[in-house]
Amino acid sequence: MGQRFDPQMWLKRVFPKGIEKSGLLNDKLEIKKTYLKALVRATAVSQRQLTQEIYKTVDFYLEKEARLKSQGVKAFKQEALNGQALLTERIKNFLVYCEVQEQKKAHKGRMYRWLPSSAKEPDPEHQLLYGKVFREGEGDKDGHMPGERWGCQCGIEWLDGEDMTPQEKIESIKIDFRRNSFLPGLNSKELKEIGAKSKEIVFKRSTAARNKRVHPELKRREYEPITGRALYKPILPPIQDIKKKNYWHFIGELKDHKKGFVLLDTDPKKNNFEIVHILKMKEKTYRQFLRKYFKNK
Ligand SMILES: [Zn+2]
Repeated sequence: MGQRFDPQMWLKRVFPKGIEKSGLLNDKLEIKKTYLKALVRATAVSQRQLTQEIYKTVDFYLEKEARLKSQGVKAFKQEALNGQALLTERIKNFLVYCEVQEQKKAHKGRMYRWLPSSAKEPDPEHQLLYGKVFREGEGDKDGHMPGERWGCQCGIEWLDGEDMTPQEKIESIKIDFRRNSFLPGLNSKELKEIGAKSKEIVFKRSTAARNKRVHPELKRREYEPITGRALYKPILPPIQDIKKKNYWHFIGELKDHKKGFVLLDTDPKKNNFEIVHILKMKEKTYRQFLRKYFKNK
């Protein structure tokens, strides 16, 4: 199971309980120092960011109060009191939002599963997304991830190879030639065969550029199906390279029945498995390749 983020559980951990009881502000509408310190300590938000957000909200409520007063609304006092409760809610939402930004940075390009909301009245639009797999930075129709839309209490499960089906992995692949592209880890079956622990797979920008030079016949749009079929639905067990023991050949079948090849570097000293070469082979070349490899076994 991948690493999880549940906004409500997370807030329970980082949000001082006293705030709910006695409010975040003192009578002079200043932030109580102990709470400010506790929040800065427990989250990734800086004191400056937090102070700014709190006073922005306070100003908003003060303006609202003044408006109500001038309009002669009798309930303005009650409104002002509600202000502290609303402020608490708002700061919670703000903290969740900031935490998701931190997680996005930490898990750049990774896949995640959308987890159900723990809200009493979950958003029906978000309910449709429960269990679905997205890439970091993508999500609901506005591109929000769980916790990014104000008040959203849906959760995130960051995925690696073992948490996704081969089909989910294939669909998740997005190769971007302008930057390093990250792909989910291998299936457990292939991992076992090469005798390695699961790691995310990277296709480096520099490798992609070199591959394009060496294989001009390969179209950009062919890279995704080739890597997908070869790495996650291979037709053969991974074949170890004759010379380099960390290199493994993965072979998948493409729609046009040609074979997609991916050479993967599984160097245990590196943080990721690295794609070092991608190509496509016709049936005849594929046969030659197999003869060469199995003769050497
Ligand atoms: Zn939600």
